[in-house]
Amino acid sequence: MKDPAQVIHDTTVRLLRMAATVLPNDVEKALRDAYERETNPTARTQLEAILKNIDIARTGIPMCQDTGIMIFYVKVGDKFPYIGEIRDALTKATIKATAEVPLRPNAVNPIVGGNSGNNVGEKIPWINWEIVSGDSVEITAFPKGGGSENVCILGMLKPGVGLKGVKKLVVDNAMSYMGKACAPNIIGIGIGGGSDIALKIAKQQLLRPLDDHHPDPEVAKIEEELKEAINATGIGPMGLGGDTTVLAVKVDYAMRHPASLPVGVAVQCWAARRSTAVITKDLEVKYLTHPLEGE
Ligand code: SF4
Repeated sequence: MKDPAQVIHDTTVRLLRMAATVLPNDVEKALRDAYERETNPTARTQLEAILKNIDIARTGIPMCQDTGIMIFYVKVGDKFPYIGEIRDALTKATIKATAEVPLRPNAVNPIVGGNSGNNVGEKIPWINWEIVSGDSVEITAFPKGGGSENVCILGMLKPGVGLKGVKKLVVDNAMSYMGKACAPNIIGIGIGGGSDIALKIAKQQLLRPLDDHHPDPEVAKIEEELKEAINATGIGPMGLGGDTTVLAVKVDYAMRHPASLPVGVAVQCWAARRSTAVITKDLEVKYLTHPLEGE
């Protein structure tokens, strides 16, 4: 008889290891395609260095010295029998992965200072819970780098500025941080809802495969327009100039209050780490982004 807590724990340790060392296929492909397309010699050198870095990391070394702050997205089925085990298993797995991968200790107390040393502490790992129907759980490890996090913004726009104002906010933000966020970036945008909702939607967009399109053609059009506009800035990889500033822009929205137009802008760096697995009620594990050999 398998121990549910152990299965969730061991799965999460592997998710964290894979997230830190192997980029999802869609991100790596986007970076390789960008290298093929890039016309700027400096940008080509930067992209080449990133691709070499990715190849070295695949041997088991984290792809960046900043291994991120620990965030999980958990979609748990209302009939999954082990809901009560998840939080503790994710926390223990974070401690184990920190020691074994190893991951850089990145959990600092903002009140009294001091690093916990194991990536765990007050409210960290942060878990974004979603209850869905079903009897399995989907866990996504999303360790988020600090450099790209520092340029995420919330704009509380006047509704009158409309979509034009939304696009201006996003492009102006990209122009303001230039290469500080380790471009090429992925940008997630959440429009509407409220201040917290807009940012939550924005960050969720960073989980989408880079080659997908929003099902609403109007939104998909905004995604393409913003990608083109930001790439036209010429900021380029690591901000040193070039054709590739963003690999993708992903947009989603919620209905808004008549008086508000909140816009969340979440920025991800080239080290776009995410790793997902599903655990069934019978404790069978399927890794979605980083399959086991032979799967
Ligand atoms: S922003 Fe990303 S690539 Fe840059 S240092 Fe942080 S984790 Fe590494």
